[in-house]
Amino acid sequence: MNIVILGPQGSGKGTQAKLLAEKFNLDHFDTGKALRQVALLDTPLGREVHEIIMVKKELVPSRLLREVLHIRLNDLGREQGIVFDGVPRNVEQAGYFEEALQEFGRKVDRVIFVDISKEESLKRIGKRFSCEDCKEAVILKEGEAEVCVKCGGRLAQRADDTKEGIEKRLSIFREETMPVIEYFEKKNLVSRIDGAQSIEKVFGDVLVSLGDIA
Ligand code: AMP
Repeated sequence: MNIVILGPQGSGKGTQAKLLAEKFNLDHFDTGKALRQVALLDTPLGREVHEIIMVKKELVPSRLLREVLHIRLNDLGREQGIVFDGVPRNVEQAGYFEEALQEFGRKVDRVIFVDISKEESLKRIGKRFSCEDCKEAVILKEGEAEVCVKCGGRLAQRADDTKEGIEKRLSIFREETMPVIEYFEKKNLVSRIDGAQSIEKVFGDVLVSLGDIA
């Protein structure tokens, strides 16, 4: 099973991808996370990726994404299902993403689009933190301490989660990623889920939408 999960920043697509990975024993390919790991490397590639994702807040060029994608597909056995979180993000990527999958004997089985409004995205991301130790992601509620409930570690905001950074990434989503959803809609592969509901309700809808393939 190869599932693509897309949604604007703060839609909770990462949480849903994690839940799907646990339930169906899928590999969770979180593109942003994979790129942030590359950005930590003190190498020409690491510095290049850091500049693009942390400073310019743009999408990384195709050649870099292709490389990251190929490494992951090559590492996994063909029978291992994958949930692709945050890729493809533009129509060009959709083309070579499908080609790469085909090359590795795979195809896109379903695209889950977790949809929320721009206002909700901005509201959630302003309060999005993650634990510096166990990396657990949380949306902090009013008055809550910036301490991880799982391990007691310090919570910090992502360096690209500034207001300007979020606005920029949301406009990239509207202009570049929405056409990808339309592209897969033409292939009857998209399930649109209302991401404004609770995590459990969203996951319930995701499971219903996968009923015929899961
Ligand atoms: P995310 O964690 O999904 O918000 O992604 C963080 C950043 O990683 C994005 O703002 C982009 O700079 C980069 N990124 C993630 N996925 C992709 C992708 N499919 N193509 C290009 N850049 C990406």
